[in-house]
Amino acid sequence: MPDIKTPADSATPAAPVEREPSAQAPKKAPANQVRARKKSSGSRKGPVALAASLVLVFVLLLISLGLRQGKEEAQPVVPAQELTLPDSGRHLTVLQDGELVDMELNEYLWGVVAAEMPASFEQEALKAQAVAARTYALNKAGHAANHPEADLCTDYTCCQAWIARDTALSNWGENAAAYADKITRAVAETNNEVILYEGSLISALFHSSSGEGTQDAEAVWGNSVPYLQSVPSPEGEEVPNYHSEVILTAQACREAILAACPEAVLEGEPTNWFGPVTPANGGSVGTIVLGGVTVSGAQARQIFGLRSANFTVEPTAEAVTFQVTGFGHGVGMSQYGANAMAADGSSYLDILQHYYTGVTVDPCPG
Ligand SMILES: [Zn+2]
Repeated sequence: MPDIKTPADSATPAAPVEREPSAQAPKKAPANQVRARKKSSGSRKGPVALAASLVLVFVLLLISLGLRQGKEEAQPVVPAQELTLPDSGRHLTVLQDGELVDMELNEYLWGVVAAEMPASFEQEALKAQAVAARTYALNKAGHAANHPEADLCTDYTCCQAWIARDTALSNWGENAAAYADKITRAVAETNNEVILYEGSLISALFHSSSGEGTQDAEAVWGNSVPYLQSVPSPEGEEVPNYHSEVILTAQACREAILAACPEAVLEGEPTNWFGPVTPANGGSVGTIVLGGVTVSGAQARQIFGLRSANFTVEPTAEAVTFQVTGFGHGVGMSQYGANAMAADGSSYLDILQHYYTGVTVDPCPG
């Protein structure tokens, strides 16, 4: 799992949470080696001991077969209800690995929720993710400038992440059946529900985790969006890599700044390069001055390859250290925040109405 992901989520698309590591395949006991050891041990004893050893070998073989049988029976079995997502009646053309694929909306959403949020998350958080993903998809369908021939693509740097069902089941290992059922219920139990602001589908942006609060859309992209306002977010130390650190040499820092801001004046040591910081709502950097040039916290995040715009900067004569909190552009729903709210008893409606200001959750109009 890379520590730094391409910060492409600052355009507009969703930033996925970091994926859980795939479950390790259980190491099977080498039954034949056990038998070999027993035989070898028995051969040094008398005939009675040898006979006893052979009986033991036979018993071990039976136990081994029994265990294997049990293991096979314990393999994940996809439950019947897993295949019975409601048919929303809507189909999407999805660009997947260079090919146009026709997908039923809820099947597409199953793959998005499975890819965008750890299936171990609380059920209400998964439901919030399903509604956000449905809203994002229906809002974007038909207006995807990057690929006008497709409603959506499966590249998370452009649209939403998506994973094939077989791949997800394989990644989940022994949890496959339970996790598949959670994702299915998240999609099915929110069937046809979308997030509306004054009756229109919203741009349902989400990100992995925030500092003390989410960001105003205006602070990140310059345009104020009434339902994408900074709100407090309850996640914290339970988030993997919640705090991260980036250390750049003076030379690397200079090159990064000049590549983005050729007009910046960088004289002497890095301690001279950084000017005042103005905070944004939610605790992120609003603006920062780099060599006399004012950039937004979101731009600084891109320039220095930081996981979020919630950072502090400590320049010395030789290097510059950034301490960063959270992951993603910080706008809209925080996925780890949603999980923390759900763990504290909030419903998916509470979560969505917390992170998207002034919205309603209703059946999709039209
Ligand atoms: Zn796309």
